[in-house]
Amino acid sequence: MNTFLDEDVAAQWVRVRGRLRAEFGEAAYRSWLKPLTLHEVNCGRVRIGVPTDFMREWVKTQYGGRLLDLWSDENSEIRGVEIFTAAAGGTARAPTAAVPGRVLPSRTAEATIEGFGGALDPRFTFDNFITGKPNELAFAAARRIAESSSVTFNPLFLYGGVGLGKTHLMHAIAWQISLQSPERRIIYLSAEKFMYQFIRALRFKDTVAFKEQFRSVDILMIDDFQFISGKDSTQEEFFHTFNALVDRNRQIVISADKSPNDLEGIEERMRSRLGWGLVADLHPTTYELRVGILQSKAEGMEIEIPQKVFEYLAHKITSNVRELEGALNRIVASASLVGRPVTLESTQEILHDLLRASDRRITIEEIQKRVAEHFNIKLAEMSSARRSRAVARPRQVAMYLAKQLTQRSLPEIGRKFGGRDHTTVMHAVRKVEELRTADAAFAEDVELLRRMLES
Ligand code: ADP
Ligand code: MG
Repeated sequence: MNTFLDEDVAAQWVRVRGRLRAEFGEAAYRSWLKPLTLHEVNCGRVRIGVPTDFMREWVKTQYGGRLLDLWSDENSEIRGVEIFTAAAGGTARAPTAAVPGRVLPSRTAEATIEGFGGALDPRFTFDNFITGKPNELAFAAARRIAESSSVTFNPLFLYGGVGLGKTHLMHAIAWQISLQSPERRIIYLSAEKFMYQFIRALRFKDTVAFKEQFRSVDILMIDDFQFISGKDSTQEEFFHTFNALVDRNRQIVISADKSPNDLEGIEERMRSRLGWGLVADLHPTTYELRVGILQSKAEGMEIEIPQKVFEYLAHKITSNVRELEGALNRIVASASLVGRPVTLESTQEILHDLLRASDRRITIEEIQKRVAEHFNIKLAEMSSARRSRAVARPRQVAMYLAKQLTQRSLPEIGRKFGGRDHTTVMHAVRKVEELRTADAAFAEDVELLRRMLES
């Protein structure tokens, strides 16, 4: 056999990846397996590229055996799998110096590597983070923490909706510190893992070691803090850890889906402590930021993607960056599989089901109802002929959201708003876009509505 990625082989690769994902779970898959690229299948050997030397070693030792098994299940001619470092054309390379075991000193290895949740994602670096208005404060704060050796604000509290880059920024801090000052000790873990470890320590009557481990770090990062809420003893323990670290002038970074004030099930003294330092909000992405992120993610890919496709995706997938990335990957995978260029048409075809699904979630009627409530006008005004500003503006906002959040065409939207013409809808969309850039308060209003509708 002497193949250079024919269709069979490409399909086999898709299945191998699918099985790896099922076996090793989503987190491991995303960190280590998704970045693998199939380069060649030749004379019974599969050649698979990874972006960095570090990943090569890791994938080889952790997944090499399984890769070979799965490949030979798929294709009886396969006798070997070679994993090599393939320079990813143009993309920023993840640092290779920091290995998970090094970020955490071996003394605490057993418990914390487990708590560490595998490893840092090599793609989550500052270089790979695209900034814009919605995230510039959070980004600047994270950078500041990574770059300075003294503590400026404690804690840094990052909050925002799902998929807006909280975890990415935390990993980026850890990467940068571990490169710059490898002697500084970092613990990064989710609140769930913190809880789990604490409960385990209680069960094994090992709380002294637990306390010691967390209180002796230079930087403690707890992701998804909202999961700690309500669990009294864990909260208590965290509170003491927190105070001990602040007293010793150690840096704490926390992320959550809500601001300290809005977090539920948090004790008052904890809540006030959380707000002591800098609280930085990651706002929902803007259209421009989404286009920027897509362009940057596509840069390292071998496939040419037309600008129109970026714009289409950025319009259609507004909720979170993870979904945006997923869509892009799907388009690229499918284009390389069938060897066809990426076009707007192929994109629409490939994402048909995905966009349909988001269509089902939000209806025009829901949008009208929410917007009417928000602006305190009657629902009937959405289809009335009245043109006074007080009702026309909310109506325009609803039309804009209908265009953004559903798959309905302009004429369809027009019909739902009292049989208006599609040009009226188009005008409304433009008007709202214009106002959003000119008026920050208005923009916030619209974002808020969008968030409520999507939640
Ligand atoms: P969160 O922790 O807030 O739910 P993540 O940090 O996991 O979100 O981000 C989800 C995905 O979106 C990740 O793959 C991340 O790299 C990507 N992402 C989010 N924001 C950005 C950004 N500004 N630039 C580049 N990638 C981003
Ligand atoms: Mg996260």
